[in-house]
Amino acid sequence: MTNSRRPLVAGNWKMHPTDRQAAVALAQAVAEATTGASAEVVVCPPAIWLVEVATALRGTGVGVGAQTMHDQESGAFTGEISPLMLAGVAGYVILGHSERRQYAGETDDEVAAKVASAVAHGLVPIAAIGERAEERANGATERVIERQLRAAISRLDRLAGTNLVIAYEPIWAIGTGDAASSADAQAAAALIRGLLHEADPDGAHEVRILYGGSVAPETAGAYFAQPDVDGALVGGASLDAAGFASIARAAG
Ligand code: PEP
Repeated sequence: MTNSRRPLVAGNWKMHPTDRQAAVALAQAVAEATTGASAEVVVCPPAIWLVEVATALRGTGVGVGAQTMHDQESGAFTGEISPLMLAGVAGYVILGHSERRQYAGETDDEVAAKVASAVAHGLVPIAAIGERAEERANGATERVIERQLRAAISRLDRLAGTNLVIAYEPIWAIGTGDAASSADAQAAAALIRGLLHEADPDGAHEVRILYGGSVAPETAGAYFAQPDVDGALVGGASLDAAGFASIARAAG
C-alpha cells in the first residue's frame, strides 16, 4: 500500500451481537484494542444498536457504519432506514453486500441508487461486489466484477471527492474460511482500479478498494501488502475485538 490512500478496516457485525450490552461492550473493546492504529477503523453493527454504539465510540476515532440503507430520504418503505436517518449517527454504509443481494433481492440498479444517495448525503459508501462460486468456476469472475462495478458507480458523475470505497468480496470466500489468495485479491483490485480509471481518470486513485472474505489476523498482512488493496471488510473476525484489532494494525 504505497500510496496516499489511508487504509480502512471495517467490521461487518451482521446480525450480531443479539443484545445491547454486548454490542456496546464489543464497540468499547474494539476502541480500546485499536487505540493508536493508523488505519481508519470502522464497525458496522445491526441498525438497532447504531445509536448506542455511536455514542459509546464518540471521541475514540473508531467510525460507525450501517449495513444497508434505502436510497430514498423517507416514504412508505416498511422496515427501511433512510440516509437522512443515518446521517449524524453513522459515517459509513455498506451497500450491496452479497447477503443483501441474495436474501433481500438487491439488484445492481438498486445498489447504484444507494451509492449515489449515500454520496449525496455525505455518507461513505462501502459498495460490495464479488462473484459466486459457480461464476468463478465458469471463468466469469472478471465479467461479474465488471458488471457490478460499472453498475455501482453508474449514477455518480465523478469519483473524485465521493469517498467511495469498493469492497471486493468473492462470495465463495465469505464466512467459509476459504479465502482468496492475496494474488487473486490484487488481480481483482487491479481490475477494479482500471475500471474506475476509465470512469474517472482524476478520481480513481482516491477510491479505496478493500478485500473481504474470511480475512483473519494471520492472513491480513498479505492482502495489505498488495498495491491496490487498501484494507479489508471483515465479517466473522470482527466480532473478536483483539483479532479485529490485529487485522487493523496489520493495515497500518
Ligand atoms: C463479510 O460478510 O463481509 C465477510 C467478509 O465475512 P467473513 O469475514 O466472515 O468472510
